[in-house]
Amino acid sequence: MKPLADGMYRILGEGAIAVMGEARRLERSGKKILHFEIGQPDFSTPDHVKQAGIKAIEDGYTGYSVSGGIPELKQVLQDEVELTHGFRPSQNQIIVFPGGKSGIYSTMMGTCNPGDEVLFPDPGFPTYGSLCHYIGAKPIPIRLKEENDFRLDPEDIAARMTANTKLIILNSPQNPTGSVMTKSELEAVAELAEETDCFILSDEIYSKILYDTDFHSATIRDEAKERTILLDGFSKAFSMTGWRLGYIIGPEPLIEKLVTFTVNSFSCTPEFVQRAGIAALTGSRNKLMEMTKTFKKRRDVIVDGLNMIPGFSCKTPLGAFYAWPNISETGLSSQDMATLLLQDSGIACLPGTDFGAGGEGYLRFSYATSLETISKAIDCILKSSSSWSA
Ligand code: PLP
Repeated sequence: MKPLADGMYRILGEGAIAVMGEARRLERSGKKILHFEIGQPDFSTPDHVKQAGIKAIEDGYTGYSVSGGIPELKQVLQDEVELTHGFRPSQNQIIVFPGGKSGIYSTMMGTCNPGDEVLFPDPGFPTYGSLCHYIGAKPIPIRLKEENDFRLDPEDIAARMTANTKLIILNSPQNPTGSVMTKSELEAVAELAEETDCFILSDEIYSKILYDTDFHSATIRDEAKERTILLDGFSKAFSMTGWRLGYIIGPEPLIEKLVTFTVNSFSCTPEFVQRAGIAALTGSRNKLMEMTKTFKKRRDVIVDGLNMIPGFSCKTPLGAFYAWPNISETGLSSQDMATLLLQDSGIACLPGTDFGAGGEGYLRFSYATSLETISKAIDCILKSSSSWSA
């Protein structure tokens, strides 16, 4: 067979999927596994959202739909952004995608040429770096520092900017550290982007999962009209990972071209899914509030538990549903520790290095699981700890 396109050999997989595969293999061989690897809420989609999806199918919304999103969902998104961000985007600034990831891919493809430099947090969501490689852009990972509570430091961004910087990716609340950037930090990054004329992709997929802190966005500076692009979706806040529904809000010329790209690629996001999305945004948010309250309880239990383990120390995350303990005092690498925990104790978590070189010395635990599972896991790790603390 002839070689495939070059980009196909540059694109990378995701650690979470690989760990889940190995954990499932161990389960089939009879081992009990406690799962902390996947970033997916363990709550079901709210009933009224499911019902809206079913009704939309029954009402016949099963054919092709307009590329870019139905006006009814766009209007609800306009209302939502006005409420959460304080500006009202035009409908021409909005494009709906099958999931947030399509929004990340489309934004990168729509803004970056081969050789352009893309800055993103390290550790960070692996898709950012992988897609850089794929499109031929130059990945510039910016280290997150524990002493800065893993918030991206605008000075570190400034130090790595060059004439070739095209895109800065922000993610707050952040995967995998749960850090939340402050208003002044976001303003500083937005100012930098303005001065150097580059784009910002603000990945806000966890913006509704926050603990006792306010949400801010870099998009308010230009109201997503000139250079900032807001990315959000329904996967996390409304437990809709499998429905595949996300969107971006950005400058009209970019959105117009991405609609044309949509016409040529996946045509549209299924309309019954979009109608379920309308119900999610306009209906009761009790389930979201209940989920966030539950996550907060679990966060406190897992952070306290991890801090009891010899060689582990864990900061308290302010958003998302991940704990990110520092394990460097154990003397084991992230990969060795993750393998040991899986093989010895049946605990599936991710090595920090799955999120970039800056994740060495850390693990990621998704606490989208029961308090009982969290307590069991802490007991198991405490038992295992004699192997590195002896
Ligand atoms: N952005 C971040 C930081 C994520 O962690 C995820 C999913 O884990 C996504 C985007 C994509 O979410 P989805 O494609 O399910 O909407």
